[in-house]
Amino acid sequence: MKTVICPYCHKPIEKREQLVTVSNLFRIRPYHNICYEKVEQETKTIWSFWTPLNGTVGMIRFVILLGLTLWFLLTDALGLGGELIGVISLYNVMIHVTSFCLYEKKVPK
Ligand SMILES: [Zn+2]
Repeated sequence: MKTVICPYCHKPIEKREQLVTVSNLFRIRPYHNICYEKVEQETKTIWSFWTPLNGTVGMIRFVILLGLTLWFLLTDALGLGGELIGVISLYNVMIHVTSFCLYEKKVPK
């Protein structure tokens, strides 16, 4: 099994509770929670678009996005604008799923 390496300290992430996955548009990165805190402090102004994917906050966002995706893609709500929101939500749902398959699944609890 391939280990997940933290891009900040270049050490493997061994436990699920240490893992923080964050996304910025097309990129997904796995960090140790302590490393991510440092990254956040160092790059606050430039990288403020990184959003955490896992944990409670990420899970709640995932459920909301999934709901939005289904609602806007399966109904005619808001017409074309609704479809656009649906596609953007779908993209975010895919990011969450990708992050889970790529990183979270590989890190033991
Ligand atoms: Zn690290």
